[in-house]
Amino acid sequence: MSLSRLAIAMDIGGTNLRYAVVNESATILAKGVTETFEFEGKEAVIRRILDAARTALSWADTKPVAIGLALASPVDPVTGVMQMPPNILSLQGYSPIKDLQDNLDIPVVAANDATLAALGEYKYGIKKSVSNMVYLTISTGVGGGQIIDGKIYNGSRGFAAEWGHLTLDFEGHQCNCGSNGCFETYCSGPAIVRIAEEMLAETALKSSLNKHLGKLTPQKLASAARDGDQFSIEVWDKIGRYLGVALSVILNTLDPDVIVIGGGVSSALDLMMKTAESEVKTRALYPYTNNIPVTTAKLGDDSGLIGAAALAFDNIN
Ligand SMILES: [Zn+2]
Repeated sequence: MSLSRLAIAMDIGGTNLRYAVVNESATILAKGVTETFEFEGKEAVIRRILDAARTALSWADTKPVAIGLALASPVDPVTGVMQMPPNILSLQGYSPIKDLQDNLDIPVVAANDATLAALGEYKYGIKKSVSNMVYLTISTGVGGGQIIDGKIYNGSRGFAAEWGHLTLDFEGHQCNCGSNGCFETYCSGPAIVRIAEEMLAETALKSSLNKHLGKLTPQKLASAARDGDQFSIEVWDKIGRYLGVALSVILNTLDPDVIVIGGGVSSALDLMMKTAESEVKTRALYPYTNNIPVTTAKLGDDSGLIGAAALAFDNIN
């Protein structure tokens, strides 16, 4: 296996379209970003994807083996068709694979972006010899992916590992998916802010955050907690309990070697883990009572691009 092989990786989201040339050591040799401009409609978005792919191909000094696409959508594992992409609805029912292959004469493979972030972390991030891994990304929403016996698991329809929609409270907060009480409605960035504002309106505690009411962010809550603000510590304790319940369900159903947590909110994981661990000890089965296999992601914002490149190399071997 030569280390000189290259792949084009593209991470196509509702806000940004990121593209890169990546080698087999997962080094990003060149990368660019443009806005997706989803509001301009399907044809304009497709044109932008083709332009970005052409630009990335022009950066490569040897012909890349394939293009790997990380799509912000459940993706049919056979056809690459995007199914109800929540933030790129104009591409509903569309697979970018054929247009890219026909126009650029290069093999193209695609999968869900969080699934590919899982693959990227599995192959290049955690650097542990494991077979079964769960990846959770906690940011504006909660998504994820999973590796079973060393391979990504998409499910039959591309909807596997949607951890954000685990029901934590069947009478709970309304979720965008149509259900209520989903994990995402308690642990995503916007959910954390909502819960903090509800708690701040009710608490008798003095908090440095009172002056930020209406303008709270997870970052402000994390930095106040690290400065010893008791109210903020209680917010993270509460969010940690929800996280712990979700982790317990995942551990009890999949028995993974490790759960890797990424996304913007993962930078506050240490603030949540005390109560999360206590929930896991109460709720998860015997193997996890003294050993909670949770770690933070290592690849940051590039995990989707690196996973897309890994998929491209895997499918060409
Ligand atoms: Zn939901």
